[in-house]
Amino acid sequence: MAKNTNDEQFKNVISHAKEYGFVFQSSEIYDGLSAVYDYGQLGSELKNNIKTYWWKAMVQMHENIVGIDAAIFMHPKVWKASGHVDGFNDPMIDNKESKKRYRADQLLEDKIARYEKDGKTDKAAQLQSDMDQALQAEDLPRLKTLIEEHEIACPVSGTRNWTEVRQFNLMFSTQFGAMAEGSEEVYLRPETAQGIFVNFLNVQKTGRMKIPFGIAQIGKAFRNEVIARQFIMRMREFEQMEMQFFVRPGEDAKWFAYWKEARLKWHQALGTPADKYRFHDHVKLAHYANAATDIEFEFPFGFKEVEGIHSRTDFDLSQHQQFSGKKMQYFDNDLNEDGKPYGNYIPYVIETSIGLDRMFLLTMINAFEEEDLSEGEKQDSRTLLRLHPCLAPVKVAIFPLTKKDGLPEKAKEIMNSLKLDFNCIYEEKDAIGKRYRRQDAIGTPFCVTVDHQTLEDNTVTVRHRDSMEQQRIEIEHLETLIASKVSWKNLLH
Ligand code: ATP
Repeated sequence: MAKNTNDEQFKNVISHAKEYGFVFQSSEIYDGLSAVYDYGQLGSELKNNIKTYWWKAMVQMHENIVGIDAAIFMHPKVWKASGHVDGFNDPMIDNKESKKRYRADQLLEDKIARYEKDGKTDKAAQLQSDMDQALQAEDLPRLKTLIEEHEIACPVSGTRNWTEVRQFNLMFSTQFGAMAEGSEEVYLRPETAQGIFVNFLNVQKTGRMKIPFGIAQIGKAFRNEVIARQFIMRMREFEQMEMQFFVRPGEDAKWFAYWKEARLKWHQALGTPADKYRFHDHVKLAHYANAATDIEFEFPFGFKEVEGIHSRTDFDLSQHQQFSGKKMQYFDNDLNEDGKPYGNYIPYVIETSIGLDRMFLLTMINAFEEEDLSEGEKQDSRTLLRLHPCLAPVKVAIFPLTKKDGLPEKAKEIMNSLKLDFNCIYEEKDAIGKRYRRQDAIGTPFCVTVDHQTLEDNTVTVRHRDSMEQQRIEIEHLETLIASKVSWKNLLH
């Protein structure tokens, strides 16, 4: 698709998300807070359904994975041990005229992309390698020199009047405790993973977990991103769904391969075209990792990371053992090839980490469609969200054909019989066609219309979102029909 069409499609998704109550800018009446968003009445339902899909797939479907819900505040030493206090930085640079702040590496990345677009592949490769070296060595003056040498100007002011490059820590901090003296600086967690690591022994012992086993968690994370853009793609407050899988040292490569495949399958089960996803295996690894890959999705602005799968060795548990002085070991009494117990060791960890908000965005982009329904001279179209029925915020809309003759009462009676199992909406305003279109726009898989015939023979019309087909069925069969489409069994076996 051409770039403009992509931009337009992305803009349409954003305005659709707002118009129908999926996502609002935070504190909008005060002109918003940059890179913070609220989920509205339908957005929170969709988000909950994505969470449920992940939780069921990871926790309920695996006997050896359990879930926790750790606090956002953690002891400040956690972030020393994890390396975030010293190393969770982005290099930033400001333009002196526009006062705009940029990530130095991103300015260079954009230049590399431009070189590539213009066919200057040698220049692109050289700059890539120079930048990688500078980042690896944390050589900030060198990053500035590269920006100058490649004549990169501020997109806002157009000038090349730059400040020095500085490191910027992405963690938010706040004061903990009511007294000014004696209060302590704590951080809002920048990832949920550390809540899992510090509870490794608690969960292993109380749950009598045997290696290999996993601990999963869904929760908020906070990063003071230098630049936040692309709607809910890069936020300052966001949500992660993470799982740490603890394995025997030496079996990490096998489990890394397992989780890579399992996680891609989870994405693809939703019916997303296979070519929309790809793996991006990391060549340069963080010092603690021995393998890492990203699952990338083709957003309208290009392939971008949605989920990371990392083989983190015993780095995190060893760090916590060192900083807390508590043993983070596991005693493995299974027998090895020599017939002896494996004994004590610090487990290795495979991590799967997906951003819930990015998954939400991907789901909206994938589902959004403006369908042309024109026939001959007659122009017609509809906007719909082709959401997987399991994810759809509303499963059934129930309409009385008219507001009289006992039809609303009958429709409400049907709604009451279904609403415990399925999220339902009742609507009696406007013509039926208009009501169908509203439900198409929010992705409701079924519309049920109650008419005069219903009062005589207990049948209703069911209209299907994707095909727009209508069928007449008996009320007593409604529940089975809906359940067959929205059951989690359709996604998880
Ligand atoms: P990126 O390179 O895009 O900043 P990352 O490599 O820092 O991401 P991780 O630390 O591996 O990301 O976090 C795991 C997942 O959390 C990411 O794959 C992404 O889906 C999500 N995530 C990370 N940062 C943000 C953010 N600022 N806003 C929304 N989601 C985020």
